[in-house]
Parts: sequence; C-alpha cells; structure tokens
Amino acid sequence: MTTVLAVANQKGGVAKTTTVASLGAALVGLGQKVLVVDLDPQGCLTFSLGHNPDRLDASVHEVLTGDLAAQEAVIDTEDGVALLPATIDLAGAEALLLMRPGREFALKRALAPLLDDYDTIILDCPPSLGVLTLNGLTAAQSVLVPLQCETLAHRGVGQLLRTVTEVQQITNPDLVLLGALPTLYDARTTHSRDVLSDVSDRYNLPVLAPPIPRTVRFAEATASGATVLAGRKNKGAQAYRDLAENLAKHWAGSELATFSPGSA
Ligand code: ADP
Ligand code: MG
Repeated sequence: MTTVLAVANQKGGVAKTTTVASLGAALVGLGQKVLVVDLDPQGCLTFSLGHNPDRLDASVHEVLTGDLAAQEAVIDTEDGVALLPATIDLAGAEALLLMRPGREFALKRALAPLLDDYDTIILDCPPSLGVLTLNGLTAAQSVLVPLQCETLAHRGVGQLLRTVTEVQQITNPDLVLLGALPTLYDARTTHSRDVLSDVSDRYNLPVLAPPIPRTVRFAEATASGATVLAGRKNKGAQAYRDLAENLAKHWAGSELATFSPGSA
C-alpha cells in the first residue's frame, strides 16, 4: 500500500521543501521506493534535488493538464528519490485548472497509475491555499504541517486547519492531519519551545517528534543539488532519519511519536 503524504503550510520559508526532500531521502535510506512531487511553480524542490527547472521538457504541469502520463515526467535524483518536477509553467496550471470540473482531483487522478510503484509519495505544496495545494490535500492520505518555531508562527495556522477540514468535508474524507513538525528549532533557548506549546495548545495540534534543529548544513545542501542526507554526518540529517523511522513505524501500525514542548 502506497502512502501519500502532503507537506503543507501556506507560509513560505517554514521548510516544506527541505522536509519533502530530506524525508524522502531518509525513507530511501530505510529501503523504501519514494516519489516526491514538486507542486510549487518556483521549482525549489526540483532545483534542490539537482535539476534545473528551466531545462526540463516535461513537468507536473503537463501531468495536471492531462497532456502527459505522470510516469513520463518522473526523473531520477542523486538521492535515490524519484522526482515529478515543476517548472514555471505550473504558474499557469492554476488558471487552466480553475476552468475545469473536478479541478481538485487532477493530481489524484494523475498519480493513480503510479500507486503500485512506490512505498511513499510526498507532495511539496506551494506557499498558498490555492488550487495546487487543494490538489495536494485531495490526493493525500495524510498531511504534515512544518512550523517554524518563531514569533507569529501561529499566524495562518487557523486558516490552514480550516482548509484541511473543508477538504475532509468535500474532496477527501479520509485525509488525516498528522500534526505539526517543528522546524528551524533552536533547543538552546526557551523561545522555540514557548512558540510551539502556544501553537499546539491554541489549535490542539499534535507535535511530531523529533523537532528539526536549525543548522547551516541545509543551505549548503540546497546549493549542492543533493539533500543533507547525502553529506557528512550532521544533526539535521539525523533528525530527518528519526522522523522517517517514526512515520514508517506509524504507517506500519504503531502510534506516532510526539514531542511535548513543555517538558523537553
Ligand atoms: P518552504 O518550502 O516552506 O518555503 P524551504 O524548505 O525552502 O521552505 O526552506 C526555507 C529556507 O530555510 C531554505 O533556505 C532552507 O535551506 C532553510 N532551512 C530549512 N530547514 C532548515 C534548518 N533546519 N536549518 C537551517 N535552515 C533551514
Ligand atoms: Mg517550498
């Protein structure tokens, strides 16, 4: 059974793309076959996995418009994850899809023939709650919300959770909200922890373990075209390996390991 996981937060810079790439690579490390899907017209996931969006002939755009089968657009990456890439063309998909009936289901339909080929498919949603994110949430079985642990992190969380509820009511009744993943976490100060307990209390949102620490390795990795998992040993890579194990065990039937900001 393939698990389809959406990584969503309409706020930019909260480590959605980093989480999709690093978690994908970590699941490959556990022996899984993994596909990651770039749903952001900026193509940051595509770029960070070593492909130049400007030089690709086929992308998720043609797949969403129904002009190309998804498997025709999938490419390999150095990290061993398969990638359904994005190009700037995707910026036009929004307008094209809006005119079609069943527009929220375009991705779900396109991925259906691939479901037997992968253990996990991870969707990198763009920083908006538009039709591309709705496609991601409609195609997914579960959704993870990266949360940068800084002041005002809660802004927009309510709106995102309302969108998740609406998707559950209208296009995807089976969608499970896994919880928030703390990112850019600084364990040395109490600030990250205070922000996190505020958000999880306010919205009654489970917090996944482990928090992903802030480290400069992520910026270096993005520039190199491979994830932090491919580089030297570092605590960012280890955190994503631990997250991958937590999720893999959960999908095999165990309870999700959570993090309590109050007690750490
Ligand atoms: P989003 O997809 O939500 O916009 P990104 O994954 O692109 O966010 O991350 C935004 C920036 O933060 C990138 O420059 C990325 O390298 C950096 N970043 C992500 N995670 C970390 C981390 N744990 N520590 C330090 N920098 C990080
Ligand atoms: Mg992104």
